[in-house]
Amino acid sequence: MLASRGTEATVSAVECLSPRVSRVQLSSRNLERLACSAGDKIKLHVPPGALRSYTPVRFDPDAGTMDLVFHLHGGGHAARWAASVEPGATVTFLGPKRSMRSTVGTAPTRALFLGDETTLGLMRALIDGLPPGTPVLGAVEIAKEDAPAVKALDLPLVPVARHAHQGAHHGRLAAQAASAAQTAQAAQAAQAAQAAHAVQASDGIRAGHRVHRSDRLHQGHRVAGTDGGPEDHGAAGSAWLRTTDLSDVDAVWLSGEANAVGRWVEELVQAGVPREQIRAKAYWSTLGHEHRKRVERRFPR
Ligand SMILES: Cc1cc2nc3c(=O)[nH]c(=O)nc-3n(C[C@H](O)[C@H](O)[C@H](O)COP(=O)(O)OP(=O)(O)OC[C@H]3O[C@@H](n4cnc5c(N)ncnc54)[C@H](O)[C@@H]3O)c2cc1C
Repeated sequence: MLASRGTEATVSAVECLSPRVSRVQLSSRNLERLACSAGDKIKLHVPPGALRSYTPVRFDPDAGTMDLVFHLHGGGHAARWAASVEPGATVTFLGPKRSMRSTVGTAPTRALFLGDETTLGLMRALIDGLPPGTPVLGAVEIAKEDAPAVKALDLPLVPVARHAHQGAHHGRLAAQAASAAQTAQAAQAAQAAQAAHAVQASDGIRAGHRVHRSDRLHQGHRVAGTDGGPEDHGAAGSAWLRTTDLSDVDAVWLSGEANAVGRWVEELVQAGVPREQIRAKAYWSTLGHEHRKRVERRFPR
């Protein structure tokens, strides 16, 4: 359905790329009527009535499929929806619409990407959109346990570890434990969550009734470390920038938490990268949506 509320699609596959990163495939015959460029966004309607921005990683109008990569941060409507959604569910979205510019004038000599868990899909889409053979370097600031998602998406970027998150939120696992707790005794729910963890650590893709084993979750991936605290978004990315040779870099894409992105912009400018070669976008803020928008107005476009 293409209505004023947007395009209706069916969830056709859900794949755990790491404990808190999930790839969700949407299918709709109506995709052939839409256009999508690298860096575009869609707005998903998620219960109970929220609209949230996400980035198509792969858009195939002929097959009628679109992939999204979700950070299951646990604390919001969209993250909770993604953590518990199953193949067969229906969802409505607006867009695609232009968000992050995928070009910076001519073909880059060397392109640099820096982001966090929310930008894994954006980076995959932007890198796929570069002229073939463009040298790429970059990093993803990410919780250590989620570093396998960088490899699962075949990104040529270094995962740099943020401090491990503590506490109850644990993506799909937390959502499953929460819903189980509402319907059964708390002790049984805890057992169910543990069992789900064991299954999902080894079974990555769920499409309809098929369950495929994903060995990617078991592949080791070296993660550079940092001493930043759990709230210190941007510190690991900054540490990576300080030790990175930026020579020949003439195109930069930055995205992630608002203050982290602002910090990376300034550090790159101080390191001699012209502002006009930088594209920056805040994807979220520890201080909420309004703060995200306010900070973003200062970014180069
Ligand atoms: C153009 C655009 C494209 C985006 N594409 C993607 C994408 O492809 N994949 C993706 O995962 N995200 C993406 N995001 C980010 C995503 O829209 C936000 O993270 C959004 O706030 C999630 O909604 P929510 O309902 O889960 O949480 P909200 O209800 O918005 O927020 C609830 C609480 O969680 C906090 N919060 C929000 N996001 C995070 C996070 N990632 N980590 C920790 N705490 C958080 C907020 O500060 C708030 O306190 C994109 C954002 C923009 C602007």
